[in-house]
Amino acid sequence: MRFTRLRLNGFKSFVDPTDLLIADGLTGVVGPNGCGKSNLLEALRWVMGENRPTAMRGGGMEDVIFAGAATRPARNFAEVCLTIDNSERLAPSGFNDQDMVEIVRRITRDAGSAYKFNTKDVRARDVQMLFADASTGSQSPALVRQGQISELINAKPKSRRRILEEAAGISGLYQRRHEAELK
Ligand code: ATP
Ligand code: MG
Repeated sequence: MRFTRLRLNGFKSFVDPTDLLIADGLTGVVGPNGCGKSNLLEALRWVMGENRPTAMRGGGMEDVIFAGAATRPARNFAEVCLTIDNSERLAPSGFNDQDMVEIVRRITRDAGSAYKFNTKDVRARDVQMLFADASTGSQSPALVRQGQISELINAKPKSRRRILEEAAGISGLYQRRHEAELK
């Protein structure tokens, strides 16, 4: 599964629509402290279904919405769109007839998050499962947060095991078993 573009609109410091094109090979993002490098990675995690505000360095999920600056009023919504190269046809059936798929997550103040898969409304779970099955979920070890390496070294065995399970691509199976047990 290859990500080709991340589009942010009203997400944290990215108040104006911003496209990050992810070309083949290595993409580097450089800039001074506070320019939004970590916000980009958080946008990626967020569009894949991250639902813990703390993982977004916030107290509530609405904290991802642009909060305003001296010269700009706050925004009412934030939206992130992730474009994925689907030439390997890894998308779920029903969405699998195109070479490109787009996943959009939008949060509106007081209305929560909504997800779209190729313009069709889907549930958070559908998006989370898609990425969990492809071993690239919002908590995937493919995404390394600032400070995460030292956290990993100091982690308890149980949390280290979760990371290994995500890497092995079986965390989606755990989620399905958990849901089956609830039924
Ligand atoms: P460093 O090099 O220090 O790691 P960075 O490039 O990773 O910096 P980020 O942490 O991504 O920077 O960006 C922090 C900036 O984002 C801060 O200026 C902060 O005010 C701004 N920011 C975070 N949330 C919001 C929000 N909801 N609305 C507006 N600005 C925000
Ligand atoms: Mg940073």
